[in-house]
Order: sequence, then structure tokens, then C-alpha cells
Amino acid sequence: MLDLNNKKITIIGAARSGVSAALLLKKRGADVFVSDFSVAEKIEEYLKILKSNDIQYETGAHSEKVFDCSLLVISPGVPSNSSIVKKAISRGIKVISELELAYQFCPAPIIAITGSNGKTTTTSLIGKIFETAGKDYVVAGNIGVAFSSVVESLTEKSTAIVEVSSFQLDHIDKFKPKISVLLNITPDHLDRYDNSMEKYSISKSKIFKNQTAEDFLIYNCDDPVISKLVYTAKCTTIPFSTKIELSFGAFIDWNNKKLIIANNMDRYPVISIDEIGIKGIHNLYNSLAAVLVARQMNVSLNSISTALNDFKGVEHRLELVREINGVKYINDSKATNVDSVYYALTAFENPIVLILGGRDKGNDYSKLKAVVQKKVKKIIAIGESAEKIKKEFSNVEIANSMQEAVNIASNRAIAGDIVLLSPACASFDWFNNYEHRGNVFKELVMRL
Ligand code: ADP
Repeated sequence: MLDLNNKKITIIGAARSGVSAALLLKKRGADVFVSDFSVAEKIEEYLKILKSNDIQYETGAHSEKVFDCSLLVISPGVPSNSSIVKKAISRGIKVISELELAYQFCPAPIIAITGSNGKTTTTSLIGKIFETAGKDYVVAGNIGVAFSSVVESLTEKSTAIVEVSSFQLDHIDKFKPKISVLLNITPDHLDRYDNSMEKYSISKSKIFKNQTAEDFLIYNCDDPVISKLVYTAKCTTIPFSTKIELSFGAFIDWNNKKLIIANNMDRYPVISIDEIGIKGIHNLYNSLAAVLVARQMNVSLNSISTALNDFKGVEHRLELVREINGVKYINDSKATNVDSVYYALTAFENPIVLILGGRDKGNDYSKLKAVVQKKVKKIIAIGESAEKIKKEFSNVEIANSMQEAVNIASNRAIAGDIVLLSPACASFDWFNNYEHRGNVFKELVMRL
């Protein structure tokens, strides 16, 4: 564990995770300073907490004081290639993520989940299974509850189910989960990895780099990038697949439409896929991963299948808003990259009116071409990327507001169709975040 007494520690980021880290460190005797380049008004609620705990901070810019420390802790939203991180490293300051910090104080075994898509869904699903089984657990990480805010409430008997992002993994040191989960690695946030898929996947693979023989890595063996990475793991690796029948791991028996756990000659049917509460191939992957985690933690098959049946997904992920005159309106605002839109489109059999666009992250839409041709009757392009989308696809209409997009969609859709907001882009051109975008969409749909 870190020796913190009177140690000078700077934290970058004064929002939820940064402030939790500051409180944890202060309690342990460290001399803490928090720096955030946002203007104070934006993070007022968090600054109040720092003030009332007598923790020094600055806002609006990072000053030289940031570097007057022996350890720098960075919040999950701070990219590894940001200049503040680079500067600190070049000055010989040790940089760790809030994930690493919390890990050092965590007495409970950790289940860590990462991937380009599906982290929140899978983390929540594993939480649901633990809840159903009556186990002592917390769900934390990139999911709205900072890991450092819960570690002190944990014991060796509980379990920490933690969603982790690649930025958090970039700055781990000893972080060693009991079980790690690698869902998929597809292009996302590449702008923050010097446009290098290799750098991005190396970052994701850090989730298992400290794991040893007594630990487990649960991974998607249908993903070619992951399959290449797992050979370097030093722990037991357990694959899952929707494409092949595995003799060890978990897979889908398509003939009998069942999710199966396989252990050499033994096969355990867990649930019929029709009974799984969340839909689409991508959610089969998420379910397979969650089932393997639960089995490894000795949860009964009965609790697992009950939870899989009860769990209806997380807000803003293929969320049914309303059905009007036979048209279903689906909010998938969290689909902020091309791959998640691909899976959204494959999740439905009915014709789709797709609302697509926002702030482009260098998207390559070619992966969507075939599935769009098959399933999408109309694309309504929104936001900064509207013109680019119009050039990529035929049958595109541009809307200049979400209101206009919803109006056009409701005019074009007929009974049996689906209106799907699945933007493939960030939301910051028109909205504060993806939740804001999803909420505006939902409100407009409710007013129709
Ligand atoms: P994350 O936390 O990794 O962003 P979410 O569970 O919040 O993942 O889902 C983000 C988006 O990706 C949603 O649009 C969701 O429908 C889609 N998605 C969920 N799971 C997967 C998966 N395994 N593969 C591809 N897309 C997925």
C-alpha cells in the first residue's frame, strides 16, 4: 500500500473521481492539491466538497504548482496524451490513475471490465447477478460511482465490480483484478492514441498484465484483436463466442437457442436466448461474459438465469422510449462509435429510420454500408457530421435540430418501423453529453 504520510500529491480533475481520490488521500494523511482546467462554475458542487474538507485547489488552468509533488493522480477523463500528463512524466513525477490509487486501498477481490463497447451494460449485468444471488458487492468505476469513493466500505469478503476505461488502464502500476473481462477492441478514441489501433489495444491489454496463475481473464475469442493479445496473459484465460462451439468457456448453441457454459466434456445450459432480457447479438456477448464471471465467483445457475431474465438494460442503450401507431422509438444515444451502431442495426428485424451524426471522431462509416442497405429505409443526419454522412450514404435527409429530426422521422416511419437514435458520434456539438442528447430525444418523442 502507498505510504502517504505528508506526501505531496496532486490530483488532475476536480469532478466526481478526482474529488473522491482527494478525500481518500487526505484521510490517509497526504498533502493534497487538486487542479482542474474547467471554469469554477462548471464544477461548483465538487469544489464545495474540497473547500469544506480543507483541500487546496485551482481552476481555469493548470499552474506550476501542479508539479510540486511526488505523485500525480489523474481522473478517468484525462487522456494519456494530454500535455499536463506528458509534462509531469518528463519531469520524473510518478503518474497513476484514480483506478490504481483505489486499487491500492481495496481489500476486496476485483472484477474489472473493459472493452470499446458494452462496459456499462456488462458491469451492470454482473451487478444484477450478484444482487440476485444475495452477494456482498459494489459496482463502481466509470459508471457514475468513483472506485475511490467505495473502497473504504469494502472488506475481503465483498467483491468490487469495476468498469474501467483505457485511460484508467494507461496509468496503472500494480492493479491486479481477480477476474478481468475483455469484451471487444474496435476503433474508438483513437484521436487520443495518436491514431494508433496498436497503442489503443496495448492500453486495453493492461487489464490483465499483472494477473498471475490464480487469476482469470474472460475474453471474446471472436474478436481478432483480442485473440492476438491474450497469448501474453499469465493467468487462466476463459473464452466466449457467439460463432463457435467451445469445449471450454461459454458459447451460443444456435440449434437449441441456448447460452451454454462448457467445461471439457460437461455442458451446462444456462438460459434460452429468448429469455435474456437484453436484445441483440452484442448483448449476447455481454451476457456470455457476465455468465462466465458469475460462474467463476460460484454463483448458482439459477440466480444467473433469473438475473439475465430480469435485467432490462441501462438507460440510453437501445432503450425503448415509446410505441406510437405501431412505430417503436428507440434511444441509443450512448452509441458514440461506428461499432455500437452496427450492433444496434443488427439487433432489429424491422425497417429502421436512423438518426445518425454529431461530433465526428474520425469515423469510418464503411462498416455500416451493407447493414444500412439491408435495414435502413432513411437516414436523418444531424450535427456537425451531417454533410459527411450525406456524402457516405444515399437516402439521407439533413435535420438542423433534434426537434426537426424527430419530426422528419415520425413523418417517414409507418407502422412496423423503428425510429432509432444511434448517432455513432460524440454529442458535444449540440448537447452537454450523451445523456442530455438522449433525454432531449426522449422528451421530443413523448410530446409527439
Ligand atoms: P460502454 O460503457 O463501453 O460505452 P455501453 O454498455 O454503455 O458500453 O454501451 C454503449 C453502446 O454500445 C450502446 O449503444 C450499446 O447498445 C452498444 N453496445 C453494448 N454492448 C456492446 C457490445 N458488446 N458490442 C458492441 N456494441 C455494444
